[in-house]
Amino acid sequence: MKTAVCPGSFDPVTVGHLDIIERAAAIFDKVIVLVAVNPQKQPSFSPEERADFIRRCTSHLDNVSVDICEGLIVDYVKKVGADTVVKGLRAMTDFEYEFQMSLINRTISGGVETVFMTAGAEHMYLSSSAVKQVAYYGGDISPFVPAEILDDINSRILRKI
Ligand code: ADP
Repeated sequence: MKTAVCPGSFDPVTVGHLDIIERAAAIFDKVIVLVAVNPQKQPSFSPEERADFIRRCTSHLDNVSVDICEGLIVDYVKKVGADTVVKGLRAMTDFEYEFQMSLINRTISGGVETVFMTAGAEHMYLSSSAVKQVAYYGGDISPFVPAEILDDINSRILRKI
């Protein structure tokens, strides 16, 4: 059984994230989407809210589950018996950071591999922070976030960041 962990902030999950999750679910037997709690970031949504959003828009995927992690991603990966981390790459700007993290993670874990999937061409420009900025000013974010969570994001973000 090949299990992949798909970590991120997901603050909130976007259709770009969902595309990566769906494509990973088609390759691996099991995918765990991991809401990584990073004390250096100031998220707009709590880890539980972010996990709930992801659960609601991945309910059609039988082999996908969602969890929250406060420590090192690689420790979580080993704890659950997974062997692969899956990450989406949007552009060269993602590459340098992700390249560094994958090498560090492989070194400190003694072998956990990171697999990169290129973002869908239509999602290359999309980030959670851009979505929040549009929502804050009352813009239409429906092309960017899964329909299941659209109203919740709008009501939480509109002029509140
Ligand atoms: P961000 O806060 O930059 O939106 P996250 O930390 O939540 O991103 O991202 C988790 C993973 O998803 C990262 O590997 C990131 O590169 C990837 N990702 C983010 N947005 C997209 C997108 N639009 N398309 C594909 N992958 C993405």
